[in-house]
Formats: sequence, structure tokens, C-alpha cells
Amino acid sequence: MMRTPGLSTRSLGQAVLPFLPLIGHRTPVHPLPSLARRLHRERLWIKRDDLITFGFGGNKIRGLEFLVGEALSLGADTLITGAGPLSNHVRATAAVGAKCGLRTTVVYWGDDTAHQSGNYELVRILGAEARFTGSFERSSVDSHMASLAEELTRSGRKPYVIPRGGASPLGVVGHVLAVPELMQQFPGLATMPEVIVLPVGSGGTLAGWLLGTSYYRAPWRVEAVTVSRPAAEARTQVLQLVRETEKLLGIDSGVAESHVVIHDGYIGPGYGAPSPEGSEAIRLAAVEEGVFLDPVYTGKALAGLIALCDTGYFDNLKRVLFLHTGGQPGLFVPGQCPWT
Ligand SMILES: *Cc1c(COP(=O)(O)O)cnc(C)c1O
Repeated sequence: MMRTPGLSTRSLGQAVLPFLPLIGHRTPVHPLPSLARRLHRERLWIKRDDLITFGFGGNKIRGLEFLVGEALSLGADTLITGAGPLSNHVRATAAVGAKCGLRTTVVYWGDDTAHQSGNYELVRILGAEARFTGSFERSSVDSHMASLAEELTRSGRKPYVIPRGGASPLGVVGHVLAVPELMQQFPGLATMPEVIVLPVGSGGTLAGWLLGTSYYRAPWRVEAVTVSRPAAEARTQVLQLVRETEKLLGIDSGVAESHVVIHDGYIGPGYGAPSPEGSEAIRLAAVEEGVFLDPVYTGKALAGLIALCDTGYFDNLKRVLFLHTGGQPGLFVPGQCPWT
């Protein structure tokens, strides 16, 4: 049975958008004094989007507040999304679907052999239906989602398709609102971080942070570390998401092409494959601060931040904030923890 706990709306720019409250709290910000010394910064903070209390948390929940809000307002009875079998986005979507009494059907790339851990197991607990494309092309997911939606529509269901990573203008809006949230967590402009560092995958999170930073005139710049595709490709994707989101909101945010800064060089052997630098960054955050990062995104992003500090790139920036986007279920996937 469909449940729509507290479905409401949020206004931003010219838009009034359906909104499903899933978070209801600011995510914690706290200092990392020991890592700050290691990185030669005056201050280093971490914002803990991994500690969003719903559904094992992580950045994807922010986008889903709007995406599933729209699905419910359109009377959808089924969520369709897709990615690889270890995806945080799929797990987060399946958790929201379960909470709202919607069916969730997941399209995974690859085949159904040898997945018995991490997010894949969580999605099974949530009762989502899983299909595999049989192709290891990540984009194979997109055409399968479209044909699945047609198939379900023909059979009388009302599916709602959420793109990979929730990377659509509506999903981006969830991340835009993280900017005023963070600004409120500091006593004044002069105390705020000078740069926010985060991982970039499908691009919605970075697009939202860039848009929010410009729109709300936050005093920091935003720099990302790509963990998935070449930086040039990620830039194109992020810029397009920014422009489409501006259109959705009816605003000119002031984000220029030059604001989209994405660092290459920390993907390692490939998306989702552990890199020595990423594994070392995970170890460092754990032993220095008792903070667990994840092997796919945040470990590699911190590896990037460490290198940017060590090579002097960030030398004029003394106050840095690292965005913890979640993903720790990935720590429990065999082969993701090469140091054990
Ligand atoms: C999806 C994800 C990201 C990247 O966010 P995008 O919006 O896809 O760029 C970063 N960290 C974690 C843990 C994620 O699951």
C-alpha cells in the first residue's frame, strides 16, 4: 500500500517542487585536528552526509527527497533505477521505495554472479526486484530502464524512472539546499571554510554544491576529485546539469565554466576498484580520526585532497572542508580492503 509520509513542497527560485522529507536534520560538521596537521591546514572539517539517519545515509538521500517527492505527486506505484550491483544510489532508492510502499525494480549492469555483499545484500533485504543487463557497459542500464518502464506501463503500472546516481535537475536541487544548511553551521562568513572538497561520480552532487554556492553567495570555492570518469567528461556532465537545473528553478545562478574544477589522477585502476592511495587515505582517516571513509568515492577523494595539499596546490587555503558523502557498505565487500 502506498504511504506518503509528510509529502510537502519546497520553493526555490521560481519553482515549487514536491518534497518528501527523509532527513529532517542538519548533518554534523566537526573538525579533524589530527588530519589537519597532516595536511598543514589551520582548520580541516568534515561534513557527515554519511550520517544521514535514513537508509544507511549518504548523499543520494538528498536528491531522493525531491525525486521521490515528484514520483509520489504523479501517483507512481513503482520506482525504477539502475547502476552497478554495489551502488549506494540503488540501495538508497530501494529504501525510500520500501518506506513509501512503492515497488522498486532495479536494473544492474553485468550479470548476477558473485554478488553477496555490501549494498547488493541491503537491496535484497529491502525486497527490491533486480534485473541484470548482461552487459558490463554502464550505459546499458539506461536503455533497459526505458524498456522496463514501457513494459510496466503496458501492464497497467505507473513507473517512475530515476536516472543513474539521481543525476537529474530535480536530484541536483537536493544538493543545492545543502549549501545554506552548511552556511548556518558556522557563526559568520569569516569563519567558514575557503574550499569544499568532494568526490564526483555521476555529477549531481557537485552540480548542486556549485549552484548553491553561487546562488547563496557562500564564501568558499568547490573542488572535486573524479572517481569514475575522466575529468573532462565529468565537467561536461556537471555543467549540463547546472544549466538544466537553472532552467528548472528559473534562476541564473552565476556559475561560470571556470567554476567547475575537477581533479583527475585518483581513479586508480578504475571506478569501484581499490587504489593504493585511496586505501591509504581510508586507513589514515580511521587511525587518525576514527572516521570511516568508503573505497569507491570518499577514500579516493581524500587521497586527492592529501595530494593537492602535499603538492602545494592548496597552499593559500588554510580552512578546508571535506564532504563525507557516505558509501561505507562498500567497506564490507570482499576485495575492497586490500590492507587486511
Ligand atoms: C554517488 C556517490 C558519490 C558521487 O555523487 P554524484 O552525485 O554521483 O557525483 C559520492 N560518494 C558516494 C558515497 C556516493 O554514493
